[in-house]
Amino acid sequence: MSLYDPLQRRIDYLRVSVTDRCNLACVYCKPRTKMKVLTHDQILRYEEILRLVRVAASLGISHVRVTGGEPLVRRGIIDFIASLRGLDGIKDVSITTNGVLLGEMAEALAEVGKPRLNISLDSLNARKFREITGSDSWAAVWRGVARAEELDFYPLKINMVPVRGINEDEVADFARLTLDRRLHVRFIEFMPIGANDRWRRDICVTSDQVRAVIEQEFGPLIPYTAGKTAGPSDNYQIPGAHGVIGFISPITKHFCVTCRRLRLTADGRIRPCLLSDTEIDVKSPMRGGCDDGELERLLRLSLEIKPERHYIGDQGARGYKRTMSRIGG
Ligand code: SAM
Repeated sequence: MSLYDPLQRRIDYLRVSVTDRCNLACVYCKPRTKMKVLTHDQILRYEEILRLVRVAASLGISHVRVTGGEPLVRRGIIDFIASLRGLDGIKDVSITTNGVLLGEMAEALAEVGKPRLNISLDSLNARKFREITGSDSWAAVWRGVARAEELDFYPLKINMVPVRGINEDEVADFARLTLDRRLHVRFIEFMPIGANDRWRRDICVTSDQVRAVIEQEFGPLIPYTAGKTAGPSDNYQIPGAHGVIGFISPITKHFCVTCRRLRLTADGRIRPCLLSDTEIDVKSPMRGGCDDGELERLLRLSLEIKPERHYIGDQGARGYKRTMSRIGG
């Protein structure tokens, strides 16, 4: 079975946030004011998430990405990953993690079938890492990356968000990692999410700017199409390199037309678009005893309200507001 939204986008990917908690406090993610964490009872129980994913899979969702907050801080996450992988129709399970706990958990993750790993890492320098994340755990993250490489997790992706005045000077160093390792290093344009009161168009380093820096250092990149999925990354290689360089350009080349995602928030809301605040509550109906037919209806409803696109790249912060008002956020 396949799931399409009214714009005929095929939706087969669900991004599931299992917690709002995180063991880092990155400057671009945490708001300036103190954020309340959700209580135990406010977040979905694993059985509730699995039920929703099972219904989504029966409609056509086949890929699940587990994220947070930081997913590896939630107790029971390994068994949860194993259960996800066992659901009918789920062909691919991946995790987005900051990698702090990866060194100690990589083996257990390998035992439940090596979910694909995306590791967010914004600096290769321990001091800078502390400035960005408020934490001294750079070495732990790096151990996690090394352990995942040893255990042959593949593809192993490192996501870096270059921000002007913070870490843009490390672009070439990240690209260099691909020369003799099979890593996929992906540069993601900084978006007005999370602590979006800090976002300004001029501190977003665009993919073209990142690519220019890399090509100045390593020469022209060559397109890399092997293993290309329907994901949003444009992939290249430095000639002769083992790894891959990807550019994800939500600001300068929005990929809304090929968006295949829905999101489930930790507190049980379906969010059809990252850049819209419009959400559909599925926790209350589940806890009120609804049947699976009602969950199907809510999943289909979320497709009806999935926005056509966002407008951030067009008009900077004004585009952000326009996006929100257009889609009711
Ligand atoms: N804790 C997990 C992690 O670190 O991967 C999952 C949450 S984190 C918010 C998910 C991803 O979003 C990371 O790759 C991070 O770099 C990226 N990210 C966070 N804020 C961003 C922003 N404003 N623009 C672009 N990417 C952002």
